Amino acid sequence: MHGPSLLAAVIALRGATLVDGTGAPPIPNSLLVVENGRIVSVGAATPDALAKLPAAAQVIGEDGKWIVPGLIDAHVHAESDADLKAMLNWGITSVRLMAEDVAASQRLAAASRTRADIPEIFPAAPIFTVRGGWWGRDEPPDANLNRFASTPDEARASVRKAKELGSREIKIMLDDMAWCRAPLPALPKTSPAVLRALLAEAEAQGMRSIVHAPNLEDAKAAIAGGATSLAHGVLEPIDDATMAVMKARPVFYVPTMDIFEFLADTHGFVWRTLGDPRRPLVAADGTVVSPPGFDDWLLPDTLERLRSDAYAALYRERFPNFENVKRRLPALRENLRRLHAAGVPVALGTDMWALPGAAIWIEMQLYVAAGLTRVEALRSATRTAARSLAIDGDRGTLEAGKRADFLVLLSDPPAPRDIDGVWKAGVRVAPMQTRRGP
Ligand SMILES: [Zn+2]
Repeated sequence: MHGPSLLAAVIALRGATLVDGTGAPPIPNSLLVVENGRIVSVGAATPDALAKLPAAAQVIGEDGKWIVPGLIDAHVHAESDADLKAMLNWGITSVRLMAEDVAASQRLAAASRTRADIPEIFPAAPIFTVRGGWWGRDEPPDANLNRFASTPDEARASVRKAKELGSREIKIMLDDMAWCRAPLPALPKTSPAVLRALLAEAEAQGMRSIVHAPNLEDAKAAIAGGATSLAHGVLEPIDDATMAVMKARPVFYVPTMDIFEFLADTHGFVWRTLGDPRRPLVAADGTVVSPPGFDDWLLPDTLERLRSDAYAALYRERFPNFENVKRRLPALRENLRRLHAAGVPVALGTDMWALPGAAIWIEMQLYVAAGLTRVEALRSATRTAARSLAIDGDRGTLEAGKRADFLVLLSDPPAPRDIDGVWKAGVRVAPMQTRRGP
Protein backbone atom coordinates (compact mmCIF):
# COMPACT_ATOMS: atom_id res chain seq x y z
CA MET A 1 0.00 0.00 0.00
CA HIS A 2 1.43 3.37 -0.99
CA GLY A 3 1.26 6.19 1.48
CA PRO A 4 0.14 9.67 0.61
CA SER A 5 3.68 10.91 1.26
CA LEU A 6 4.63 9.55 -2.12
CA LEU A 7 2.28 12.07 -3.65
CA ALA A 8 3.16 15.22 -1.74
CA ALA A 9 6.33 16.55 -0.18
CA VAL A 10 4.63 18.06 2.84
CA ILE A 11 1.88 16.21 4.67
CA ALA A 12 -0.17 17.76 7.43
CA LEU A 13 -2.36 15.59 9.65
CA ARG A 14 -4.98 17.80 11.15
CA GLY A 15 -7.58 17.48 13.89
CA ALA A 16 -6.47 14.42 15.87
CA THR A 17 -5.83 14.35 19.59
CA LEU A 18 -2.05 13.95 19.74
CA VAL A 19 -0.04 12.30 22.51
CA ASP A 20 3.60 13.20 21.91
CA GLY A 21 5.21 10.53 24.11
CA THR A 22 7.03 12.97 26.41
CA GLY A 23 4.44 12.50 29.13
CA ALA A 24 2.87 15.88 28.32
CA PRO A 25 -0.93 16.11 28.22
CA PRO A 26 -2.59 15.27 24.88
CA ILE A 27 -2.97 18.09 22.33
CA PRO A 28 -6.56 18.27 21.10
CA ASN A 29 -7.18 19.37 17.50
CA SER A 30 -3.51 18.97 16.63
CA LEU A 31 -1.48 19.67 13.53
CA LEU A 32 1.38 17.30 12.73
CA VAL A 33 3.49 18.37 9.76
CA VAL A 34 5.80 15.88 8.06
CA GLU A 35 8.32 16.25 5.26
CA ASN A 36 10.94 13.85 3.89
CA GLY A 37 10.30 11.32 6.63
CA ARG A 38 10.82 13.87 9.39
CA ILE A 39 8.54 15.86 11.65
CA VAL A 40 8.55 19.55 10.75
CA SER A 41 6.27 20.69 13.56
CA VAL A 42 3.79 19.50 16.17
CA GLY A 43 1.19 21.71 17.79
CA ALA A 44 -2.38 22.93 17.77
CA ALA A 45 -4.18 23.36 14.44
CA THR A 46 -4.66 27.08 14.93
CA PRO A 47 -5.72 29.24 11.96
CA ASP A 48 -2.23 30.71 12.10
CA ALA A 49 -0.50 27.32 11.91
CA LEU A 50 -2.75 26.25 9.03
CA ALA A 51 -2.06 29.47 7.16
CA LYS A 52 1.67 28.78 7.32
CA LEU A 53 1.40 25.45 5.51
CA PRO A 54 2.85 25.50 1.99
CA ALA A 55 0.20 25.66 -0.73
CA ALA A 56 1.22 22.23 -2.05
CA ALA A 57 0.87 20.53 1.32
CA GLN A 58 -1.45 17.57 1.49
CA VAL A 59 -3.77 18.09 4.44
CA ILE A 60 -5.36 14.95 5.90
CA GLY A 61 -8.33 15.39 8.21
CA GLU A 62 -8.02 13.17 11.28
CA ASP A 63 -10.88 14.54 13.39
CA GLY A 64 -12.01 12.20 16.13
CA LYS A 65 -8.82 10.15 15.93
CA TRP A 66 -5.66 9.91 18.03
CA ILE A 67 -2.03 10.19 17.00
CA VAL A 68 0.75 8.63 19.10
CA PRO A 69 4.44 7.92 18.43
CA GLY A 70 5.35 4.67 16.73
CA LEU A 71 5.66 2.03 19.43
CA ILE A 72 8.98 0.54 20.46
CA ASP A 73 9.17 -2.95 21.95
CA ALA A 74 12.37 -3.28 23.98
CA HIS A 75 12.27 -7.08 24.16
CA VAL A 76 11.31 -9.22 21.20
CA HIS A 77 12.37 -12.42 19.52
CA ALA A 78 11.27 -13.22 15.98
CA GLU A 79 10.80 -16.76 14.82
CA SER A 80 10.09 -15.63 11.29
CA ASP A 81 9.72 -12.69 8.98
CA ALA A 82 5.98 -12.99 9.52
CA ASP A 83 6.48 -12.19 13.20
CA LEU A 84 8.28 -8.97 12.29
CA LYS A 85 5.57 -8.04 9.80
CA ALA A 86 2.92 -8.62 12.47
CA MET A 87 4.80 -6.29 14.82
CA LEU A 88 4.73 -3.44 12.32
CA ASN A 89 1.10 -4.13 11.57
CA TRP A 90 0.36 -3.71 15.27
CA GLY A 91 2.07 -0.32 15.37
CA ILE A 92 5.60 -1.23 16.42
CA THR A 93 8.05 0.80 14.36
CA SER A 94 11.27 -0.10 16.23
CA VAL A 95 12.33 -3.17 18.24
CA ARG A 96 15.17 -4.47 20.34
CA LEU A 97 15.58 -7.89 18.79
CA MET A 98 17.29 -10.51 20.94
CA ALA A 99 19.34 -12.69 18.62
CA GLU A 100 21.80 -15.57 18.85
CA ASP A 101 24.01 -14.62 15.92
CA VAL A 102 25.57 -11.16 15.72
CA ALA A 103 26.37 -11.09 12.01
CA ALA A 104 22.94 -12.36 10.98
CA SER A 105 21.22 -9.84 13.25
CA GLN A 106 23.33 -7.04 11.77
CA ARG A 107 22.28 -8.04 8.26
CA LEU A 108 18.64 -8.07 9.29
CA ALA A 109 19.03 -4.70 11.01
CA ALA A 110 20.59 -3.22 7.87
CA ALA A 111 17.74 -4.56 5.73
CA SER A 112 15.17 -3.19 8.18
CA ARG A 113 16.37 0.37 7.52
CA THR A 114 14.99 0.27 3.99
CA ARG A 115 12.16 -2.26 4.27
CA ALA A 116 8.69 -0.80 4.64
CA ASP A 117 7.09 -4.01 5.94
CA ILE A 118 8.96 -4.61 9.22
CA PRO A 119 10.00 -2.42 12.18
CA GLU A 120 13.50 -1.04 12.37
CA ILE A 121 15.63 -3.53 14.20
CA PHE A 122 18.11 -2.79 16.97
CA PRO A 123 19.76 -6.10 17.89
CA ALA A 124 20.94 -7.27 21.28
CA ALA A 125 23.31 -10.02 20.24
CA PRO A 126 24.68 -12.51 20.86
CA ILE A 127 22.69 -14.13 23.66
CA PHE A 128 25.31 -15.32 26.13
CA THR A 129 24.50 -18.36 28.24
CA VAL A 130 26.04 -21.68 29.23
CA ARG A 131 25.73 -24.92 27.30
CA GLY A 132 22.71 -26.78 28.60
CA GLY A 133 21.45 -23.59 30.24
CA TRP A 134 18.46 -21.48 29.28
CA TRP A 135 18.81 -20.59 25.58
CA GLY A 136 21.76 -22.98 25.39
CA ARG A 137 20.09 -26.27 24.53
CA ASP A 138 18.19 -26.11 21.24
CA GLU A 139 19.02 -22.57 20.16
CA PRO A 140 21.73 -22.10 17.55
CA PRO A 141 25.30 -21.00 18.30
CA ASP A 142 26.83 -17.84 16.86
CA ALA A 143 28.84 -18.79 13.79
CA ASN A 144 31.66 -16.34 14.59
CA LEU A 145 32.09 -16.35 18.34
CA ASN A 146 31.51 -18.49 21.40
CA ARG A 147 28.28 -17.41 23.08
CA PHE A 148 28.71 -20.21 25.62
CA ALA A 149 31.92 -18.72 27.03
CA SER A 150 33.02 -20.69 30.07
CA THR A 151 35.96 -18.62 31.31
CA PRO A 152 36.41 -14.87 31.82
CA ASP A 153 39.02 -14.76 29.04
CA GLU A 154 36.68 -16.46 26.58
CA ALA A 155 33.92 -14.12 27.67
CA ARG A 156 36.00 -11.03 27.03
CA ALA A 157 37.18 -12.30 23.65
CA SER A 158 33.60 -13.04 22.58
CA VAL A 159 32.39 -9.58 23.57
CA ARG A 160 35.23 -7.96 21.63
CA LYS A 161 34.37 -10.08 18.60
CA ALA A 162 30.71 -9.09 18.92
CA LYS A 163 31.74 -5.44 18.88
CA GLU A 164 33.88 -6.05 15.82
CA LEU A 165 30.88 -7.59 14.06
CA GLY A 166 28.83 -4.49 14.76
CA SER A 167 26.97 -5.35 17.96
CA ARG A 168 26.05 -2.42 20.19
CA GLU A 169 24.46 -4.50 22.91
CA ILE A 170 24.81 -8.01 24.30
CA LYS A 171 22.22 -10.11 26.10
CA ILE A 172 23.09 -12.41 28.99
CA MET A 173 21.01 -15.23 30.45
CA LEU A 174 21.34 -15.50 34.22
CA ASP A 175 18.66 -17.90 35.36
CA ASP A 176 18.33 -21.53 36.46
CA MET A 177 14.62 -21.29 35.53
CA ALA A 178 13.45 -23.13 38.67
CA TRP A 179 10.93 -20.35 39.33
CA CYS A 180 8.89 -21.53 36.32
CA ARG A 181 10.24 -25.02 35.59
CA ALA A 182 10.46 -26.85 38.95
CA PRO A 183 10.15 -29.77 39.58
CA LEU A 184 12.08 -30.14 36.32
CA PRO A 185 15.79 -29.97 37.18
CA ALA A 186 17.30 -26.51 37.61
CA LEU A 187 19.42 -25.49 34.61
CA PRO A 188 23.09 -24.54 34.80
CA LYS A 189 23.59 -20.80 34.66
CA THR A 190 26.32 -18.30 33.83
CA SER A 191 28.97 -18.24 36.57
CA PRO A 192 29.62 -15.05 38.57
CA ALA A 193 33.11 -14.73 37.08
CA VAL A 194 31.89 -15.04 33.48
CA LEU A 195 29.02 -12.67 34.18
CA ARG A 196 31.41 -10.05 35.55
CA ALA A 197 33.77 -10.48 32.58
CA LEU A 198 30.96 -10.14 30.02
CA LEU A 199 29.57 -7.03 31.67
CA ALA A 200 32.95 -5.41 32.27
CA GLU A 201 34.12 -6.00 28.70
CA ALA A 202 30.86 -4.68 27.28
CA GLU A 203 31.26 -1.55 29.34
CA ALA A 204 34.92 -1.21 28.28
CA GLN A 205 33.83 -1.49 24.64
CA GLY A 206 31.11 1.13 25.08
CA MET A 207 28.37 -1.44 24.55
CA ARG A 208 25.08 -1.88 26.38
CA SER A 209 24.21 -5.10 28.18
CA ILE A 210 20.74 -6.43 28.91
CA VAL A 211 20.43 -9.28 31.39
CA HIS A 212 17.67 -11.88 31.74
CA ALA A 213 17.54 -12.20 35.55
CA PRO A 214 14.01 -12.55 36.99
CA ASN A 215 15.31 -13.63 40.42
CA LEU A 216 16.24 -10.72 42.64
CA GLU A 217 19.60 -12.18 43.60
CA ASP A 218 20.58 -12.54 39.92
CA ALA A 219 19.22 -9.11 39.07
CA LYS A 220 21.36 -7.60 41.81
CA ALA A 221 24.46 -9.40 40.53
CA ALA A 222 23.74 -8.08 37.03
CA ILE A 223 23.28 -4.54 38.30
CA ALA A 224 26.43 -4.74 40.43
CA GLY A 225 28.37 -5.91 37.36
CA GLY A 226 27.26 -2.96 35.27
CA ALA A 227 24.20 -4.16 33.32
CA THR A 228 22.43 -1.34 31.50
CA SER A 229 19.00 -3.04 31.39
CA LEU A 230 17.09 -5.87 33.05
CA ALA A 231 15.31 -7.87 30.35
CA HIS A 232 12.45 -8.96 32.63
CA GLY A 233 10.53 -7.97 35.70
CA VAL A 234 11.83 -9.21 39.05
CA LEU A 235 9.90 -11.84 41.00
CA GLU A 236 10.70 -10.69 44.55
CA PRO A 237 10.22 -7.22 46.05
CA ILE A 238 13.13 -4.99 45.00
CA ASP A 239 14.82 -3.27 47.94
CA ASP A 240 15.22 0.50 48.16
CA ALA A 241 19.02 0.41 47.79
CA THR A 242 18.79 -1.49 44.51
CA MET A 243 16.10 0.87 43.26
CA ALA A 244 18.31 3.84 44.07
CA VAL A 245 21.16 2.40 41.98
CA MET A 246 18.78 1.66 39.11
CA LYS A 247 17.54 5.21 39.15
CA ALA A 248 20.94 6.85 39.44
CA ARG A 249 22.86 4.99 36.74
CA PRO A 250 20.22 4.36 35.24
CA VAL A 251 19.39 0.68 34.77
CA PHE A 252 16.36 0.28 32.52
CA TYR A 253 13.64 -2.05 33.76
CA VAL A 254 11.86 -4.03 31.02
CA PRO A 255 8.88 -5.62 32.82
CA THR A 256 7.57 -8.19 30.27
CA MET A 257 4.47 -8.51 32.47
CA ASP A 258 2.62 -10.39 29.77
CA ILE A 259 5.08 -13.29 29.87
CA PHE A 260 4.58 -13.80 33.59
CA GLU A 261 0.80 -13.59 33.18
CA PHE A 262 1.03 -16.02 30.28
CA LEU A 263 3.13 -18.55 32.23
CA ALA A 264 0.96 -18.23 35.35
CA ASP A 265 -2.19 -19.19 33.48
CA THR A 266 -1.80 -19.70 29.75
CA HIS A 267 -5.40 -20.65 29.11
CA GLY A 268 -6.78 -17.76 31.17
CA PHE A 269 -4.38 -15.27 29.63
CA VAL A 270 -5.36 -16.20 26.11
CA TRP A 271 -9.06 -16.03 26.87
CA ARG A 272 -8.85 -12.79 28.83
CA THR A 273 -6.64 -10.94 26.39
CA LEU A 274 -8.28 -12.07 23.20
CA GLY A 275 -11.64 -11.02 24.52
CA ASP A 276 -13.04 -7.58 25.10
CA PRO A 277 -13.33 -6.91 28.83
CA ARG A 278 -16.41 -4.79 28.23
CA ARG A 279 -18.33 -7.61 26.64
CA PRO A 280 -19.27 -11.03 27.93
CA LEU A 281 -17.39 -14.06 26.71
CA VAL A 282 -20.47 -16.19 27.27
CA ALA A 283 -23.80 -15.41 25.73
CA ALA A 284 -27.01 -15.37 27.77
CA ASP A 285 -27.90 -18.87 26.62
CA GLY A 286 -24.57 -20.17 27.85
CA THR A 287 -22.82 -20.58 24.52
CA VAL A 288 -19.35 -19.15 24.19
CA VAL A 289 -19.33 -16.19 21.86
CA SER A 290 -16.41 -14.99 19.84
CA PRO A 291 -15.00 -12.01 21.73
CA PRO A 292 -14.92 -8.90 19.54
CA GLY A 293 -11.57 -7.54 20.74
CA PHE A 294 -8.27 -8.78 19.37
CA ASP A 295 -9.79 -11.66 17.54
CA ASP A 296 -11.01 -9.32 14.84
CA TRP A 297 -7.38 -8.94 13.89
CA LEU A 298 -6.07 -12.47 14.23
CA LEU A 299 -6.40 -15.27 11.75
CA PRO A 300 -8.97 -17.92 12.70
CA ASP A 301 -6.40 -20.74 12.79
CA THR A 302 -4.13 -18.69 15.07
CA LEU A 303 -7.03 -18.08 17.40
CA GLU A 304 -8.03 -21.70 17.39
CA ARG A 305 -4.49 -22.82 18.19
CA LEU A 306 -4.02 -20.31 21.04
CA ARG A 307 -7.37 -21.10 22.60
CA SER A 308 -7.02 -24.86 22.47
CA ASP A 309 -6.54 -26.96 25.58
CA ALA A 310 -3.56 -28.59 23.88
CA TYR A 311 -1.79 -25.24 23.68
CA ALA A 312 -2.22 -24.56 27.39
CA ALA A 313 -1.21 -28.14 28.20
CA LEU A 314 2.02 -27.71 26.25
CA TYR A 315 3.01 -24.75 28.44
CA ARG A 316 2.08 -26.55 31.65
CA GLU A 317 4.44 -29.29 30.57
CA ARG A 318 7.28 -26.95 29.69
CA PHE A 319 6.77 -24.61 32.64
CA PRO A 320 5.18 -26.76 35.36
CA ASN A 321 5.85 -24.28 38.19
CA PHE A 322 2.97 -22.05 37.12
CA GLU A 323 1.57 -21.89 40.65
CA ASN A 324 4.78 -20.21 41.76
CA VAL A 325 4.58 -17.71 38.90
CA LYS A 326 0.99 -16.96 39.90
CA ARG A 327 2.09 -16.34 43.49
CA ARG A 328 4.71 -13.86 42.27
CA LEU A 329 2.35 -11.70 40.19
CA PRO A 330 1.52 -9.28 43.02
CA ALA A 331 5.24 -8.66 43.65
CA LEU A 332 5.83 -8.14 39.92
CA ARG A 333 3.05 -5.57 39.75
CA GLU A 334 4.22 -3.86 42.89
CA ASN A 335 7.83 -3.71 41.64
CA LEU A 336 6.66 -2.07 38.44
CA ARG A 337 4.55 0.46 40.32
CA ARG A 338 7.27 1.28 42.87
CA LEU A 339 10.14 1.48 40.38
CA HIS A 340 8.14 3.73 38.11
CA ALA A 341 7.09 5.95 41.02
CA ALA A 342 10.71 6.17 42.18
CA GLY A 343 11.86 7.36 38.76
CA VAL A 344 13.55 4.19 37.50
CA PRO A 345 13.13 4.19 33.70
CA VAL A 346 10.59 1.55 32.67
CA ALA A 347 11.02 0.53 29.03
CA LEU A 348 8.18 -1.55 27.69
CA GLY A 349 9.10 -5.01 26.45
CA THR A 350 6.90 -7.99 25.71
CA ASP A 351 9.07 -11.03 24.88
CA MET A 352 5.74 -12.46 23.72
CA TRP A 353 6.29 -15.05 21.01
CA ALA A 354 2.65 -16.19 21.11
CA LEU A 355 1.18 -12.86 20.05
CA PRO A 356 3.86 -10.97 18.12
CA GLY A 357 2.91 -7.32 17.87
CA ALA A 358 -0.50 -7.58 19.51
CA ALA A 359 1.21 -8.19 22.85
CA ILE A 360 2.39 -4.59 23.12
CA TRP A 361 -1.19 -3.43 23.61
CA ILE A 362 -1.75 -6.06 26.30
CA GLU A 363 1.52 -5.08 27.97
CA MET A 364 0.51 -1.40 28.13
CA GLN A 365 -2.78 -2.38 29.73
CA LEU A 366 -0.93 -4.46 32.30
CA TYR A 367 1.10 -1.34 33.21
CA VAL A 368 -2.13 0.58 33.69
CA ALA A 369 -3.40 -2.28 35.86
CA ALA A 370 -0.18 -2.00 37.93
CA GLY A 371 -0.85 1.69 38.59
CA LEU A 372 0.65 3.69 35.73
CA THR A 373 -1.52 6.21 33.92
CA ARG A 374 -2.34 5.62 30.27
CA VAL A 375 0.02 8.37 29.16
CA GLU A 376 2.78 6.86 31.34
CA ALA A 377 2.20 3.40 29.91
CA LEU A 378 2.43 4.84 26.41
CA ARG A 379 5.60 6.72 27.33
CA SER A 380 7.25 3.47 28.43
CA ALA A 381 6.49 2.10 24.96
CA THR A 382 7.84 5.18 23.22
CA ARG A 383 10.29 7.62 24.79
CA THR A 384 11.65 5.37 27.54
CA ALA A 385 12.02 2.35 25.25
CA ALA A 386 13.89 4.64 22.83
CA ARG A 387 16.15 5.85 25.65
CA SER A 388 16.96 2.25 26.60
CA LEU A 389 18.28 1.79 23.05
CA ALA A 390 19.98 5.19 22.93
CA ILE A 391 17.85 6.17 19.93
CA ASP A 392 15.81 8.83 21.73
CA GLY A 393 17.58 11.62 19.84
CA ASP A 394 15.79 10.43 16.75
CA ARG A 395 12.59 8.69 17.80
CA GLY A 396 10.28 7.82 20.68
CA THR A 397 8.50 11.18 20.78
CA LEU A 398 6.70 13.37 18.30
CA GLU A 399 8.87 16.46 18.17
CA ALA A 400 10.21 18.65 15.39
CA GLY A 401 13.25 17.11 13.71
CA LYS A 402 12.55 13.52 14.74
CA ARG A 403 11.60 10.68 12.46
CA ALA A 404 7.96 10.64 11.46
CA ASP A 405 7.16 7.27 13.06
CA PHE A 406 3.62 7.45 14.37
CA LEU A 407 0.23 5.77 14.57
CA VAL A 408 -3.24 7.05 13.81
CA LEU A 409 -5.78 5.37 16.08
CA LEU A 410 -9.55 5.32 16.01
CA SER A 411 -9.80 5.07 19.79
CA ASP A 412 -8.15 6.48 22.88
CA PRO A 413 -4.80 4.72 23.54
CA PRO A 414 -3.94 2.21 24.81
CA ALA A 415 -7.21 0.61 23.75
CA PRO A 416 -5.92 -2.32 21.75
CA ARG A 417 -8.01 -1.94 18.66
CA ASP A 418 -8.64 0.14 15.65
CA ILE A 419 -5.25 1.08 14.30
CA ASP A 420 -6.10 3.34 11.38
CA GLY A 421 -2.58 3.74 10.09
CA VAL A 422 1.04 2.95 10.92
CA TRP A 423 3.52 5.48 9.57
CA LYS A 424 7.20 4.69 9.34
CA ALA A 425 9.55 7.52 8.37
CA GLY A 426 6.69 9.57 6.97
CA VAL A 427 5.13 6.79 4.90
CA ARG A 428 1.90 5.03 5.77
CA VAL A 429 3.05 1.42 5.75
CA ALA A 430 0.49 -0.65 7.57
CA PRO A 431 -3.26 -0.36 7.64
CA MET A 432 -3.85 -3.62 9.61
CA GLN A 433 -4.37 -5.71 6.54
CA THR A 434 -4.68 -8.92 8.53
CA ARG A 435 -8.22 -8.19 9.60
CA ARG A 436 -10.06 -11.45 8.99
CA GLY A 437 -7.97 -11.90 5.90
CA PRO A 438 -5.33 -14.33 4.71
ZN1 LIG B 1 13.93 -12.88 25.69
